[in-house]
Amino acid sequence: MDVKAIRGMSDILPGDVPKWRFVEETVRKVFGLYGFVELRTPVLERTELFLRGIGNETDVVEKQMYTFTDKSGSSLSLRPEATASVLRAVIEHGLLSEDPIRKIFSMGPMFRYERPQKGRYRQFHQINAERLGEGGPFSDAETLQMAYALASALGLKGLAMEVNSLGCETCREEFKKALQAYLSKQADRLCADCARRMATNPLRVLDCKVVSCKQAAEGAPVIEDYLCEECRDHYDQVLSYLKSFGVPYAKNPSLVRGLDYYTRTTFEITAKGLGSQNAIAGGGRYDNLVKVLGGPDAPGIGFAFGVERVILLLEERDAREEGCFVVAQGDERVKTAAVGLLSELRSAGIPAQAVPEKSFKAQMRRAGKSGYPFCAIIGQDELEKSLVTVKDLETSSQVQVPHTEAREKIRTLLKDRKGESR
Ligand code: AMP
Repeated sequence: MDVKAIRGMSDILPGDVPKWRFVEETVRKVFGLYGFVELRTPVLERTELFLRGIGNETDVVEKQMYTFTDKSGSSLSLRPEATASVLRAVIEHGLLSEDPIRKIFSMGPMFRYERPQKGRYRQFHQINAERLGEGGPFSDAETLQMAYALASALGLKGLAMEVNSLGCETCREEFKKALQAYLSKQADRLCADCARRMATNPLRVLDCKVVSCKQAAEGAPVIEDYLCEECRDHYDQVLSYLKSFGVPYAKNPSLVRGLDYYTRTTFEITAKGLGSQNAIAGGGRYDNLVKVLGGPDAPGIGFAFGVERVILLLEERDAREEGCFVVAQGDERVKTAAVGLLSELRSAGIPAQAVPEKSFKAQMRRAGKSGYPFCAIIGQDELEKSLVTVKDLETSSQVQVPHTEAREKIRTLLKDRKGESR
């Protein structure tokens, strides 16, 4: 059979899984420090959710969604991002009426029909955090700081955080008018999408990757000059809290980000070593989105990390399992004793494997392949004296212990070894 995986969708092979686990464990540890709890949503949602939650005229919705009609005629889409789904779940289950402040994280696969390249895939994974019910600048700064803390805890190097404010509906209208006036003079340089979006959604032009659009946007007015007094104050306070937190940042007035729902603060974190796809995380405030999706008038802020990009930057992690291979050298009675030891080890929480039907040589070869540091050998001699030989597979040194003490001995050896490798 030569059926292969779909382009842009990868298998995560056992050798890479330790890196994924490290990322997931670090997320739980770091986000837990800030009181975030985990929520998991389905990968499929009604298409309408994303049209409302991300915006009709974004690249994600216009070009990148995997949308299909199911057997009952409903239009469904694989989630291209997590925020809309998380908010749907929060609203559907009344989580904000139970507690008006919610801090939620989630992890899982997202799907976008993009052109695959290093760091950009069609199925990719995101770590996502949403903080609902707090509108003040402290919650912006603390959320940004949490994202930065995660990147640092993952050991990523050359981190840079860029911050911007997109203002509120009122000041953004003023800015849009000024931007439209500017862009109308650049119309011949804009791509077909931007020429169309210019009238309805001119901010998208600032996010377009087409070179001529980028050039056209170079002299465009900047949103910071249009912020109303409240948005200006909010932005200043966010920056001042970021300083108190000791988070290094740079202002980037053209950081509009690809989704329509952002208000006020937006940000992005980049890391060295990824080439052109160097954004590892991005997010921002979305004070109208919960309401737009049919929930209470609750402000929110969130971000998403791209896990594959983080994985690309991680050093190899030790994939070896801690455990003991059980080897039987002799007749049926020896095998029975070996199988008994196998069960005893597992009952004691010690990983163990065996291939007792193979020759002694083949069993020792499997022991070496297992990645376990030790094997426990029971031969005719050991059986008669109720002993077990425990062999260090790296150094070949071995000790004999009474069968009844084998379990504890192996546990201690594994523990000592773990202590040494720290
Ligand atoms: P976004 O949801 O577009 O704001 O993206 C947030 C983060 O997800 C980005 O900074 C990337 O790290 C990651 N990301 C977005 N799209 C892709 C993709 N197609 N493949 C891999 N990672 C992605």
